[in-house]
Amino acid sequence: MSQIAELKELLAQPRQVFITTHHKPDADALGSSLGLAGYLRKKGHQVTVVTPSDYPDFLAWMPGNDEVVVYDPRRNDARVRQLIAEAEVLFCLDFSCLSRINELGEYVRAAQGTKVLIDHHQEPEDFAQLDFSNPKAAAASELVFEVIRDLGDQDLIDAGIGECLYAGIMTDTGSFRHPSTSRNVHLIIAELLSAGINTSEVHRRIYDSHSEERLRFLGFVLKDKLTVLREYNTAYIAITAAELRQYHSKTGDTEGLVNFALSIEGIVFAAIFIDRTQAVKISFRSVGDFSASEFSRRHFSGGGHHNAAGGISHEPLPATLDRFLELLPDYQVQLLGAPLASPAP
Ligand code: 5GP
Ligand code: MN
Repeated sequence: MSQIAELKELLAQPRQVFITTHHKPDADALGSSLGLAGYLRKKGHQVTVVTPSDYPDFLAWMPGNDEVVVYDPRRNDARVRQLIAEAEVLFCLDFSCLSRINELGEYVRAAQGTKVLIDHHQEPEDFAQLDFSNPKAAAASELVFEVIRDLGDQDLIDAGIGECLYAGIMTDTGSFRHPSTSRNVHLIIAELLSAGINTSEVHRRIYDSHSEERLRFLGFVLKDKLTVLREYNTAYIAITAAELRQYHSKTGDTEGLVNFALSIEGIVFAAIFIDRTQAVKISFRSVGDFSASEFSRRHFSGGGHHNAAGGISHEPLPATLDRFLELLPDYQVQLLGAPLASPAP
């Protein structure tokens, strides 16, 4: 039986469904989760969405947001454990290894219900009975659309569900800029438009709803915190814990900053290092052949996509930066591109 037929059979009767997504959910993580939740609720299932951490305010408009349970080990551990234990179906969206959902990872691993992975990251961990991973997909939200469509229920995708999925696809493709923006992506967007989504409203809510302080923080970062290393076609940003405090930085305020470093002409590799006190969180971005995910996997316990990856360092920020800078010479040839052929003698 095909996986989609198995899922259809599993969902043929009302189920207790648990949906979760990665730490610090972004628009694809939350959009795919709430889009799927909206659909499953329409089908009569009992659905709870649990996030392993909080997420930015600019995502709070999504339908179903008010029912999201934000896991907090000190506040609701027992309740979340119970939800996981009682779930008949557990959907894992937009992450590929259980370590990405913190404490929830081991709870989900031990759960008796059927685990369904819908994800687009490289090298998925083998923990789910049904696996709809596809690293070629632009977003988990694209895959959620396809799963609903392949279950024969596209007509249940209304404007609310559609805007959740649109938000995920829009942000993970960098507003339809990245090479992942396939014909399939545009065809799905056309279907979502037919369902009545308001695309400019979604753009505005996500990109044009920052505080004045966040914009001033951006100005400070670009002026004082950006280092450009022409000899490696690399640019990076490093932000200390004190600077985050100084600008009252909230969840989501640092999202997208790394893309400014990559927007400089000739830069093929960009990184941002953020001192989150317990650890330094790192985002890597690249253009072309240079693999951000491989670099992150190899040196910073991370992973992700070819051109967009994340990682972590448990050393202090200065030592983390030193290590990064010491690695660059090993990649200089790749970063500067293939050497030009020598002229004929
Ligand atoms: P971001 O830099 O925007 O946080 O993440 C870029 C991509 O890498 C996302 O697809 C994200 O899910 C993934 N990613 C971010 N941090 C980590 C990490 O620590 N480990 C792994 N495996 N992937 C990550
Ligand atoms: Mn994603």
